Amino acid sequence: MTAPVIGVLALQGDVREHVGALAGAGADARPIRRPGELDAVDGLVIPGGESTTISKLVDIFEMREPIDKRIAAGMPVYGSCAGMIMLATEVLDGRPDQRGFAGIEMTVRRNAFGRQVDSFEASVEIAGVQGAAFHAVFIRAPWVERVGPGVEVLGRVTDRPVGDRIVAVRQGNLLATSFHPELTGDLRLHRYFVDLVRAA
Ligand code: GLN
Repeated sequence: MTAPVIGVLALQGDVREHVGALAGAGADARPIRRPGELDAVDGLVIPGGESTTISKLVDIFEMREPIDKRIAAGMPVYGSCAGMIMLATEVLDGRPDQRGFAGIEMTVRRNAFGRQVDSFEASVEIAGVQGAAFHAVFIRAPWVERVGPGVEVLGRVTDRPVGDRIVAVRQGNLLATSFHPELTGDLRLHRYFVDLVRAA
């Protein structure tokens, strides 16, 4: 079977780590930042970074309309952290001018876990991923406050003082996590996404 081509939106954020994880998971992975490069991919990862900056650069690089169109046509997209924010239909505590692709019917809160616990690690079980719970790394992460009826909740953090929070979701071919599996060498989520791209 030929490897699916998966682009990592390379405007800002931890692009290299996702390219490495996708390659390890069997994809033909490449950084992309131009509309012409988007045409050549079967799926897209929006990395962690800063969603306000990514939002601005999406416009500067004229990637907004092409990505919107591909999402509407069913292209699989995986967003982690800032990438999750970019996929949400509603963002709380965002900048008024930031705009995402509004693909997953959910409300996310930016930097939700608060200053004291800006960055932390937790165990998260992901529905559909076999084996032990993920060792999940959160860095100024969003959480999901509300999901629409079409959204499948895949994972939650339950061992924080902030209570039970949704941190992984899927709606159709769109996948999002608050945490960063590209940083820990655990390729199961990237394999899950590669399988999703293969199936699409
Ligand atoms: N706080 C960042 C944002 O709002 C996300 C952080 C991350 O991607 N690690 O975009």
